[in-house]
Amino acid sequence: MTDNNAILTDKFGRALNYLRVSVTDRCNHRCSYCTSGKEEYSQKARTDILSYDEIRRTVTLMAKLGITKVRLTGGEPLIRKDLDQLVTMIKDIGTIEDLTMTTNAALLKPMARKLKAAGLDRVNISLDTLREDRFKDIVGARGVVTATLKDVLDGIEAAIEADLTPIKLNAVIMRTINDDELGDIIDYASERGARLRFIECMPMSDSSEWKRLYMPMEEVLKLPQITSRVDTSAVAIKDRAAAYTLPLKNGNGTVGFVSPMSNRFCDSCNRLRLTSDGRLRACLPSDKDVDIRDALRTNATEQELIELIRKAVLMKPEVGEYNYDDDSRGRSMLQIGG
Ligand code: SAM
Repeated sequence: MTDNNAILTDKFGRALNYLRVSVTDRCNHRCSYCTSGKEEYSQKARTDILSYDEIRRTVTLMAKLGITKVRLTGGEPLIRKDLDQLVTMIKDIGTIEDLTMTTNAALLKPMARKLKAAGLDRVNISLDTLREDRFKDIVGARGVVTATLKDVLDGIEAAIEADLTPIKLNAVIMRTINDDELGDIIDYASERGARLRFIECMPMSDSSEWKRLYMPMEEVLKLPQITSRVDTSAVAIKDRAAAYTLPLKNGNGTVGFVSPMSNRFCDSCNRLRLTSDGRLRACLPSDKDVDIRDALRTNATEQELIELIRKAVLMKPEVGEYNYDDDSRGRSMLQIGG
């Protein structure tokens, strides 16, 4: 076995220091690009989901091995009760420099201050539309949803007030669904000092849905609502999060363009994912992962856990392969953790 410093370096020399932790496979939204439609039947039993203490033990060990950045995700992380307690447990490890959460914000308003006080640094919020009727169609695409767009917008304001900043807003671009309101979303983000990122839709578990929705970033960058607001001739800044960031023409912010499909960023990928049922996955589109839950529950030694972590790291392919035609993928984005 390699020495501990190199455990999180993969076969291709990439040092993995960023862990996404899915705290639940449940979500209050049912977006078509994130779900397969089969989740209702495959939802994990509560006992299958890692407890906060099991997550803490895993993150503590992985922090020792070099993880410095943790993002809580799901499903919808705010569905999980007392999430602020988990935030405190992770913050108390002491070496996590950046502790963030991805949320749809519908349940954020009453929790924002508590989470900040517990040690959450900032939030990424999914916002695909600013129109109430569309919101219902997007988040309710595969089921009944009671959240409203107003809940989400109130959540965003609460996050700003609680100083969970800089807020990042993520909008998945969907052809014929929201591709005519990208300019409005830019204006909304710019007025609030939020960092907006447009994201290409990825084929997760429903390839026919993906084919319907996918719009390459090259095409997005030519839309008049983009070119009138974004300086597309500027030299893009490429960050670790794989976003190409361009300045707004009004000088009031930037917009990130994340193109996981048309402009792969595997060479700079530093991520690992822990699913809510305790599987460690080194590549989002790959269905390969390693179960660490059983080891956690049978008092495995630290060395045994490290060996499982190493096994997952070694599974990371040089380039992640998406499957464009097959609907049989093991897990949807909702179940892996985005
Ligand atoms: N429920 C939270 C939320 O809505 O932000 C966290 C989980 S969600 C899986 C995390 C992110 O994954 C969201 O920003 C969502 O838009 C993104 N996502 C899900 N499926 C996607 C897909 N097929 N392509 C691109 N982004 C996707």
